[in-house]
Amino acid sequence: MDQSPMTPFYEMAGKSPEEAKFFWSGGPVEVAPRTWFQSWLSGVTAFETDAGLVLVDSGLRQLGAKLAGMLRQRTNAPVHSVIFTQGHIDHAFGLKDFLVPGQARPRIIAHRAMPERFQRYELTQRFNAAINARQFGGSVSRAETTEEFNNFRTPELPPDTLYEDRLALSVGGVRFEIHHCRGETDDHSWVWCPERRVLCPGDLFIWGVPNAGNPQKVQRYPRDWALGLRRMAALEPRSLCPGHGGPVVDNPTLIRRMLLETADYLDSLVAQTLAALNDSAPPHVDIVHRVAPPKTEAPWLQPVYDEAEFIIRNIIRHYGGWWSGRPSELKPATRSALAREIAELAGGAAALLRRAETRAAAGDLRLACHLADYALEAAAEDPAICSGVAALYDRRAERETSLMARNIFRSAAAYAREGRAFA
Ligand SMILES: [Zn+2]
Repeated sequence: MDQSPMTPFYEMAGKSPEEAKFFWSGGPVEVAPRTWFQSWLSGVTAFETDAGLVLVDSGLRQLGAKLAGMLRQRTNAPVHSVIFTQGHIDHAFGLKDFLVPGQARPRIIAHRAMPERFQRYELTQRFNAAINARQFGGSVSRAETTEEFNNFRTPELPPDTLYEDRLALSVGGVRFEIHHCRGETDDHSWVWCPERRVLCPGDLFIWGVPNAGNPQKVQRYPRDWALGLRRMAALEPRSLCPGHGGPVVDNPTLIRRMLLETADYLDSLVAQTLAALNDSAPPHVDIVHRVAPPKTEAPWLQPVYDEAEFIIRNIIRHYGGWWSGRPSELKPATRSALAREIAELAGGAAALLRRAETRAAAGDLRLACHLADYALEAAAEDPAICSGVAALYDRRAERETSLMARNIFRSAAAYAREGRAFA
């Protein structure tokens, strides 16, 4: 896949940063009468009714006050009901700050799979802290001191109303439809307010390649996701309030295009990956190199957060097992034993690193990083090897466009500087 130097995606798309809405933070924006959207890292939509507010999502715990402060510029109504579009920490943890003093506990609605997610968080707190440190470019030693470590648990205000497939409700005479759609998560919902024609897709739309491939996280569902996007488009929303990035207000034509092009993008990756799997079950890496991601200039389909290559991997996992397809990797040797063997064949870890640097200079960072891994795993006690490998991963990070790839490579550099491979 292309390894051109990293360019901000809005430049690649010929857009100004203002137009490239993945990065958008702000609000309150009135997206329909008595309906406001605000975003800081993630979005919150508030529908005012005569019975109180219906909130869709609540932001990160640390950002709840900031988001609520925006909304409270427009309305002081108490929160009647809340819908969490998913149980991720940037959607289901900021609610407390939206409540007005003395108000009753709001009804909190979510898909029935959400409590199991929180149980999983409790079971894997330190794991989650470590993989998130990597996703954001650090190492485990950093993760243990950061706040996200404490966030992976059941939220202070958990859902009390769970639904299975669809739920319709009326609050203060305004109707809301909540639809389950496996997408970024298995507990994902999207919300439609027919009277105001406002769509809240949660993270099923984020102004970038869908986060359907995240290398370190549990299964995503691109096929169901595309289906859900087509159902949303069929409703012909007038305004769209996404999980991340800016809103689209009163522009049904653009919203339809955004939803359907994203569905087409996912369907293409699913169809091509399935075709490759069905072609005699080749090794996973062969599938990754065989599938051609759809080319598009659309600013909502640039690899700014996740990317096609990772979605292909995720599709392979959805339909297949964990084995890579290489016979030796069915029951492998330890990495250090293999690395020492390769290093010995090459004339030492330093020779391996030199070769990696030559390959990198020739522009093949993919190949260079394989050799660098072996060098580090064979001689992590050698500071020259560690700093050489760190420099290679820094270079590789610079050339990536997706946050996910860039930060995991940055994290690899951070680990190398600490004298270790991911371990
Ligand atoms: Zn999110």
